Amino acid sequence: MLPSKEVAFLAAAGFRSATEILDHLPKRYEDRRRFDSFPNQPTSSAVCLRGGVIDTSKRHFGQGRGFYEAIVMDGSGGVFGSGKITCRWFNMPFIHKLVATGQELIVYGKVKDFNGRLIIDHPEFEILRDDDEPSDSIHIERIVPIYRNVAGIAQRRLREIMHLLLLQCDPATLAAPFDVDSAMPRAQALRTAHFPESLAEAHAVRRRFALEEFFGIQLNVAWRRTRHLEQTGRVLGRRTTLLTSFYNSLPFDLTEAQKRSIREIIADMRQPRPMNRLMQGDVGSGKTFVAMAAMLLAVDTGCQAALMAPTQILAEQHYLTFRRWLEPLGVRVALRTANRDEANHLELDGGARMVIGTHALLHDEKLFGDLGLIVIDEQHKFGVAQRAALIRRGVVPDVLVMTATPIPRTLTMTIYGDLDVSLLDEKPPGRGKIITAVRVGAKQADVTKFLKEQLSKGRQAYLVYPLVEESEILKAESATEAYEKWRKRLPGREVGLIHGKLKPDVKEEVMRRFREGEIAALVSTTVIEVGVDVPNASVMILHHAERFGLAQIHQLRGRIGRGGHKGYCVLLTDGRSPEGMEKLKVLEQCADGFEIAEADLRLRGPGDVLGTQQSGLSDLRFTDFLADTALLRQAREIADRVLGEDPHLLGVHAALRPLLQDTAPMPMAH
Ligand code: ADP
Ligand code: MG
Repeated sequence: MLPSKEVAFLAAAGFRSATEILDHLPKRYEDRRRFDSFPNQPTSSAVCLRGGVIDTSKRHFGQGRGFYEAIVMDGSGGVFGSGKITCRWFNMPFIHKLVATGQELIVYGKVKDFNGRLIIDHPEFEILRDDDEPSDSIHIERIVPIYRNVAGIAQRRLREIMHLLLLQCDPATLAAPFDVDSAMPRAQALRTAHFPESLAEAHAVRRRFALEEFFGIQLNVAWRRTRHLEQTGRVLGRRTTLLTSFYNSLPFDLTEAQKRSIREIIADMRQPRPMNRLMQGDVGSGKTFVAMAAMLLAVDTGCQAALMAPTQILAEQHYLTFRRWLEPLGVRVALRTANRDEANHLELDGGARMVIGTHALLHDEKLFGDLGLIVIDEQHKFGVAQRAALIRRGVVPDVLVMTATPIPRTLTMTIYGDLDVSLLDEKPPGRGKIITAVRVGAKQADVTKFLKEQLSKGRQAYLVYPLVEESEILKAESATEAYEKWRKRLPGREVGLIHGKLKPDVKEEVMRRFREGEIAALVSTTVIEVGVDVPNASVMILHHAERFGLAQIHQLRGRIGRGGHKGYCVLLTDGRSPEGMEKLKVLEQCADGFEIAEADLRLRGPGDVLGTQQSGLSDLRFTDFLADTALLRQAREIADRVLGEDPHLLGVHAALRPLLQDTAPMPMAH
């Protein structure tokens, strides 16, 4: 019924049926019964304007790069006002074939000031047609759905396809395996979601789909909890000889939070059911020592304990830390990463009961026979399947997941409700204070001078650059270019470079040289974000700081001020973005990870905070409802009821079984 070309585009986008296409709900709506008036200054959020194209032109700036601009003038139906906005599209060679003078356009985007002109770069746009009769059009004079793009199919055509499918689909095929809202069956809800009569109706129906989605999550959480309680693990942690000698060997006291977490872990480990615990602690809160304590308990009972780190660098670093603290107690530690020779350390270190490694650990058959505890560090960088992979192999060790991503408590309970949580909400004393300062339009000479002073005091520094997408217009300088410049600015000092594209052994070598003080200043992208610990590095200079996420900067600055020296985190920015400035001010004033997470939620909304690629949460479609606790509670009640009737979804609710998943999505700071 659709042209085969369109069917091919839809298939390429991953849709396998009409039902799946209809599940592609609008990402937003435009009320095309009234438009925003043309602004006369920049706007802080996107506006939706309707107007006529009065002029277009093509611009070039060499190397085949260029942009196309269209001047859109206020007004519709021939009645023009005086407002004017320039729309620009960069590196879109075909755009001039689409947008032409004389057309009537709807554009959507944020207005900014560029040399005194009001500009929208890369607006979403739609060309109106003469035959768009207000009376029956699905494109105009009504609430109009806007979809995430499907390659090859224009927004307008996609809307028509949705309309067509809704008319033709049998409502029975649109039903959900379980209707969360008997008052509004799914087929009807879909109709409303695509073509609502009002914005209020659109919101209400999205809430219904959010309920459906949260129900799926809660069903999984409740199911995993049930299953978990049915598993038998080992009773560990009765012997505490090693733990006691560890305590006695420490030159400092553990913090109250560390002690509390260790007590919670001991209690879990002594249970016959396996531990499944999440330890949340801000950067520098001392998670490693808690992990060590847990691993010592396991080893003391005679089994192996493993720690899995997300990267080679971190595994190496943990390995060194563990050896430093534990070898004096007679505990053997081995390193196991993919890079090592296959005749690996486990065999060389035949007596090692403690193994530190990367994913490679999961392929280590020898380890599994005897694995009592696995600690997973910085889970959010991992993907989600490790624990499930272990359980599938019939190993049910105690699991401790450590994360430095502060997630607001309500979210933890909803999404990770099957995990027990320990909170390290206190930092060890005697930390060098970190001074964070925003510098707007700082002179390079001043920055270099400050850096030189610090280096000559014997400190080391991170010089951090954002990742830059090729397609971005105003290219921020890349780490590699910056590295060359810094080498010239810092004659006589060793400057290093590290970024994600380097080979693992090269990265490792750079990190080793930095750790050992051979490299004084390390130019880097955000690869140093997680867990890296070089106590002598006390200066961090972030370039184009407005481009980083709040939580991300907080993670990054956790790398400095670890060795008792006063730390300096300098946030360089051009100050042009008001939101960017607001964000950076938060960091200047606030040092607490949870407070920052809350501010991040407030400034960006849960969707943007949690909805990034690698987190399993990017699959969540209705993150904007995550703050709707009533809805979350309702989802949980329905899930509990369903599982109460049918704990393994084998009978009455068998149709829901395909929804079940072994693992929870994990958050990440990006
Ligand atoms: P996290 O992994 O939570 O970011 P780490 O475990 O790496 O933190 O600890 C950060 C630093 O604090 C390390 O240098 C560690 O030696 C130190 N540290 C940890 N616990 C304490 C404590 N109770 N007292 C003093 N220093 C501590
Ligand atoms: Mg750590």
